[in-house]
Amino acid sequence: MINRKVPEDTRLEELKYWCRQFHRFNLAPPYKGGSYGNLSFRFKDGEDSFIITGSRIGLKDKLSNDCFVKVLSCDMEKGIVHTYGVREPSSESMLHFAIYHHRKDVNAIFHGHCQGILAHANRLKISETKKEEPYGTIELVQRVVDILNDESFLVMKNHGFISLGKTMKEAGELTLQIYKRCCNYTGTEFRTWDE
Ligand SMILES: [Zn+2]
Repeated sequence: MINRKVPEDTRLEELKYWCRQFHRFNLAPPYKGGSYGNLSFRFKDGEDSFIITGSRIGLKDKLSNDCFVKVLSCDMEKGIVHTYGVREPSSESMLHFAIYHHRKDVNAIFHGHCQGILAHANRLKISETKKEEPYGTIELVQRVVDILNDESFLVMKNHGFISLGKTMKEAGELTLQIYKRCCNYTGTEFRTWDE
């Protein structure tokens, strides 16, 4: 259900900044040909609505406001996402919704893909979902909720990571911190890719 209106919010500039960072550190390459990473922030305290990157948005430099959609609510049983924006919401919107619903302390959710972090989840002491599930499914949402507790960083098995923060800055900086530690383990230089 889509109301075709572009979200306007001053916080979008900060979200765009973190999208650029994810792109620069190559933290959101396409996953299985379909989904890039997706980043969101809670719209309002005490509500589960949020603003998220639209479907099939590569997190490249020039993102305009119409690359984002506001998710008002989700019907988890029917798999329906109620939004407004000119694009389809990210395929992982239900996942973001479930996390905001279960964790009132979380105001930003950044999801990306990084082989190194997946490979070293154990060593980095990051909780990981028990079983791989296809992206965009209710099964995947359930696997994540199962291990959510009060964690701030999670790995979805054979898929990607989720960073949670009270603020976008917190979720973003935590991601870069963990990526940096991961680079030590993989012997990769910690650097951006477009420099
Ligand atoms: Zn993903």
